[in-house]
Amino acid sequence: MTTSDGSVLGRTTIVDRGSPAECWNLVFLGDGYTSTQLAQYATDVNNAASVLLNTPPFNGRRAVINVFRVDVSSTDSGADDPVACGGSGAVRRTYFDATFCTNGIQRLLTVDAATALAVAGAQVPEFDAVLVIVNSTVYGGSGGAVGVFSLAGNATEIAIHELGHTAFGLADEYMYYRGCGSGETDRDHHPPVEPVEPNVTIASTRAGLKWRDLILSSTPVPTMSNPDCAQCDSRPSPVPTGTVGAFEGAHYAHCGAYRPEYGCKLLTLGTPFCAVCQRRIRQVLPTTVPHVRELRVAQAVKLVRGAGLVPKLVGPQQHGSWVWQQSPKAGAIVASGSTVTMRLRSGPIP
Ligand SMILES: [Zn+2]
Repeated sequence: MTTSDGSVLGRTTIVDRGSPAECWNLVFLGDGYTSTQLAQYATDVNNAASVLLNTPPFNGRRAVINVFRVDVSSTDSGADDPVACGGSGAVRRTYFDATFCTNGIQRLLTVDAATALAVAGAQVPEFDAVLVIVNSTVYGGSGGAVGVFSLAGNATEIAIHELGHTAFGLADEYMYYRGCGSGETDRDHHPPVEPVEPNVTIASTRAGLKWRDLILSSTPVPTMSNPDCAQCDSRPSPVPTGTVGAFEGAHYAHCGAYRPEYGCKLLTLGTPFCAVCQRRIRQVLPTTVPHVRELRVAQAVKLVRGAGLVPKLVGPQQHGSWVWQQSPKAGAIVASGSTVTMRLRSGPIP
C-alpha cells in the first residue's frame, strides 16, 4: 500500500542506443511483483519492449530509443481489486499501491504516480516516459503522468495505447465512456469545446480539421456521420482501411467529435496507430540524421524529409547540384523537425 511495502533494487539498461541526453528514454517499473517474481518481471518487460519496438512508428525510430528496467519488489503479489467494481476484493501490499476500479471503473488500473515518477527520476534522470507493469492478469490500464497496464492477454497493447496518452499527448478516440451498449445517456453529444489533443476534434469541415493536410481531396468530409447520437455508430467503414478523413464518434462522445481514421490504437487495441497519431509520435521522438553528402539534391532532400527533418539548401542550386557538406553530420541524433543544412556544389561528384 505504500513504499514500506517493498524496495527499489536498481536499474538495468535493456536497450542501449546511445547517450540518454540525446535518445528517447523509456523506463519500465513493476508493481505487485514479490522478490521471487523479479525474473518473471524481467521477462514481462522484455516482451513489452519488444512489441513496442516492432510497432509503427516506433520501429522506424528504434535507433533513438533506450529502454531501462527498474527492479522494484513488493511485499505481496498482484493489485487491489475492489468489490465495488465487481472485483475479487483483493487487497495487496505493493510498492506503488496499484488498484483497479479507480473512479468506480473496473478497467481503470492506477498506481501512486508521484512515487513512480520519483523512482524513475532517481534511477534514470533523463527519462522521457514511464510505464508501470502491474502483476495481475485482470484487464486494466491507465494513462496520465505514467502509463499503467496489467498482464491481461493483450497487456502490451494496453501499454502502447497508454504510452500514446502519457508520452505523446494523444486523446482516447473512443466514441463512448462506459461502453457501447452500456446505456450511457450523457455521451450523446461532445461539449462544444475543441480538445487540445492532435487526434480528435469537434470540427466537421475540411478546412477546420487539424489533420486536413493528410486528407485526400477525393475523401468526403465528414467521412462518416453517426445517424443515432443515442448510440455508438457500429457500421463498417465506407472507405478502405487507412483512409484519413473525419469519422464521427470520438473523445468519449457518440456525436459531435471526430477521429482521423475509422480505426486506431487509441480506439481499439490491436489496431495500428492512425496516420495522425503516428505523425505526432514521430514529431516527439528524436531522429537520426541520414547521410546525404555527395548525393544529388533531390535524393538528399527526400532522405532528410523522410527522417522528419527540414532540409536547408545553401549555395547555387542548378541541374546537377550535389551536397558537398552537411550539418549536423550523418548519424547524429537530433530532435524531429531540426534543420539539416546542405551546402551545394555542381558538376561531377568526386
Ligand atoms: Zn489515432
